[in-house]
Amino acid sequence: MNKSFLVKPFLDEDYPIAEYGKGIYLYDSEGKEYIDGSSGAVTASIGHGVLEIAEVMKKQGEKVSFVYRSQFTSTPAEKLAWKLKDWAPGDVNWSFFVNSGSEATETALKVAIQYWQEKGRPTKTKILSRWMSYHGITLGALSMSGHEVRRARFVPLLEDFPTIDPPYCYRCPFDQSYPECQLKCANELERAIYRIGADNIAAFIAEPIIGASGAAVVPPDGYYEKIREICDRHEILFIADEVMTGIGRCGKPFAIDYWSVVPDIIAIGKGLSAGYTPLAATMISEKVMEPIRSGSKLIMSGHTYSANPQSTAVGLAVLEYMEKHMLVEQSEKKGNYLINQLTQLQKKYPIIGDVRGKGLLTGVEFVSNIFNKLPFSEEVNVTNAVVKKSMEKGLLVYPASAGLEGMRGDAIIVAPPLTIKKEEIDKLVSIFENVIKEIQ
Ligand code: PLP
Repeated sequence: MNKSFLVKPFLDEDYPIAEYGKGIYLYDSEGKEYIDGSSGAVTASIGHGVLEIAEVMKKQGEKVSFVYRSQFTSTPAEKLAWKLKDWAPGDVNWSFFVNSGSEATETALKVAIQYWQEKGRPTKTKILSRWMSYHGITLGALSMSGHEVRRARFVPLLEDFPTIDPPYCYRCPFDQSYPECQLKCANELERAIYRIGADNIAAFIAEPIIGASGAAVVPPDGYYEKIREICDRHEILFIADEVMTGIGRCGKPFAIDYWSVVPDIIAIGKGLSAGYTPLAATMISEKVMEPIRSGSKLIMSGHTYSANPQSTAVGLAVLEYMEKHMLVEQSEKKGNYLINQLTQLQKKYPIIGDVRGKGLLTGVEFVSNIFNKLPFSEEVNVTNAVVKKSMEKGLLVYPASAGLEGMRGDAIIVAPPLTIKKEEIDKLVSIFENVIKEIQ
């Protein structure tokens, strides 16, 4: 294939052709092997080529792949919603299926606004969010995202939502340290609420562990408890964006389960179908559903493919596979091992400023000076160099950004399939060490 009409992420870049995948490995058309150290975009959490899932796809395809959601429901969609209710915390019982994480967060935004309308409070329409966040690429989701590069071209079209600084202890935006800081980063939410007015705010949205724009940044203890308390006191909904962190990725069913907090709405995607088909969901609590069910009785959102039998059958099969192989528990255990191994590298190579994460969502941040944490310049672009060199050596890692508003930072995410074995983690880390040796 000399000429391509496929619009690729970088038009001039040559991408290998993916031919085959098995477990943590992908193979291109030339037979080169890659360890999928990032599960693609933190998606392929049960690994590639799982025959049980292919079998479910075939069987469901033979029965019925598509029905339209306002004409039919289906057994796989009903069963998946039941299963998710059992996975989710507290009263987050309802699932609205969509096709991508961006649709899930954008639906969350709409449901939050609708909730307040149904309660007779139509002025509550703003969604507060944090800088150093990514909630999706569509305009509503991008409006909520504090990701400068992805916003830049479209700023005039976006709502002015990202408001508060992130809980990023490695580079505290307030130049303080935990616990003396008394969680200033959480208290910022209350200051923003006073500034904007609780009567204008529908919800606060956050990734429990910051993914693409932070590389697995874990907030300090007590942060989410404080956020929940502030949201409750000011009558503001709390939306957890678990598109990257949910469905066992971080070693608990949902990352927010690390803290004693139940969100009002949870967005999920990626690991829900583990990449076998496009599938995502907005999960809604009883509290939020109640006024809608006793009010207009219709959530004003949805897509042609919402809750299609093919995708929901795959989602159900993925969750059953995860339960059967205890992958959530394994993610916690193997994640501890992976973080430990990466921390050993940090001790040897001063280019590694920080290693962080929970379960098998781990991040590595690079610095040009370990003592003052100085980031590399844009020209050096260490993230790209590490991603490219890794790929050359047969390892896929996910490019993330790090650094605060107006300051670039280099980081990558290492998030292999939850099925990875200990020896495979050793192999991954050993390739990564060779990459670091050459880059530093
Ligand atoms: N929310 C979070 C936390 C994400 O990490 C992403 C994607 O990386 C999205 C939303 C958007 O998901 P999608 O790319 O499936 O639209």
